Amino acid sequence: MTEFEFDIDITNIPTPSYLVDERLLKKNMEVLKSVSEATGCRILLAQKAFSMFSMYPMMSGYLSGTTASSLFEARLGKEEFGGETHIFAPAYKDSEMDEIISLCDHIVFNSFAQWKRFKNKVMEARRAGKKIECGIRINPEYAEIETDIYNPCFTGSRLGTTLKTFEEELDLEGIDGLHFHTMCEQNSDTLERTLKVVEEKFGTYMKNMKWINFGGGHHITRKDYDVERLISCVNHVQETYDVKVYLEPGEATALNTGYLVATVLELSENGMNLAILDTSAACHMPDVLEMPYRPEIIGAGKPGEKAYTYRLGGPTCLAGDVIGDYSFQEPLKVGQKLVFTDMSHYTMVKNNTFNGINLPSILVRTLDGEIKTVRAFTYQDFKNRLS
Ligand SMILES: *Cc1c(COP(=O)(O)O)cnc(C)c1O
Repeated sequence: MTEFEFDIDITNIPTPSYLVDERLLKKNMEVLKSVSEATGCRILLAQKAFSMFSMYPMMSGYLSGTTASSLFEARLGKEEFGGETHIFAPAYKDSEMDEIISLCDHIVFNSFAQWKRFKNKVMEARRAGKKIECGIRINPEYAEIETDIYNPCFTGSRLGTTLKTFEEELDLEGIDGLHFHTMCEQNSDTLERTLKVVEEKFGTYMKNMKWINFGGGHHITRKDYDVERLISCVNHVQETYDVKVYLEPGEATALNTGYLVATVLELSENGMNLAILDTSAACHMPDVLEMPYRPEIIGAGKPGEKAYTYRLGGPTCLAGDVIGDYSFQEPLKVGQKLVFTDMSHYTMVKNNTFNGINLPSILVRTLDGEIKTVRAFTYQDFKNRLS
């Protein structure tokens, strides 16, 4: 849990709903801003983790801009956040490049092959007065991530250019930066070890760049994160190579800032106590099945820890739509609300309407204490994605 006690009155909250606490989001923004103030580096919101654009006006007071994984995210960042608009994708579509160039001030290419494919377009735009800087994503072939689906450096990874290919295909004319993204929910000691490898391999090229982008995966707003070490890593690179450093955290921007409030719909038993909720792991918190991970529930414990243990499942017909096993002090009751914590990031951006299950409403607890429904979804939202 966070330093704030959970003090939001959920009696009248519709369920399921994501409830973001603007106070906690602001606190994360303050931590991130303290890093850019201490170093002069620039920090961008990686929108793929958190695209709740109603919060962008507040967040844009603390961060330098956004980064995008696609044309649509780039457009959202440009329209709603402002500041710098960066983009990286493993490969760009010819048909989207003109719009990407018009929206973005920084484009990171996954390879020199991609750079060569779009170089003329970029050069043309520059000649026409568009300020646009380009980078190459490198793969330092060093990551400390155990799970392959989150490891951009696994054998055969398509993400980034290894040193061997980099040197074979070298075409740095017009390239202003290098980008690496090799971390996931990690502390700055991992960054420090990663930088050693990056410098050993790519140090010669870093000297000629305007900027180095350290990617995301920095768990900067986590309680035990060593911010001082991050600051010294950033300073070291900026001073040694005379470059500007960019960080583009996704998860760290919204870590521990929101909840998913759900209601118990039914109770039953099959060798153990079961509860069916009006929220679904498959639809509303897909990372519970994909990562996988176990979200916390306020007031609940691990199975067996408290008197009454239940397996919590969703309202879909997917057998595996199970959130997990949790124990409670008192027996659960139909109609009771449960509050899942840390539900801001990688939830709204990944949810879906499988089984025709409606999306959770999006609510915010504003800085002045109001509970505001930012968005509620209807049948039309479901239907509009189908034909
Ligand atoms: C996913 C991603 C990020 C954000 O990662 P987090 O783990 O959410 O901080 C940043 N940059 C790139 C290129 C990414 O793919």
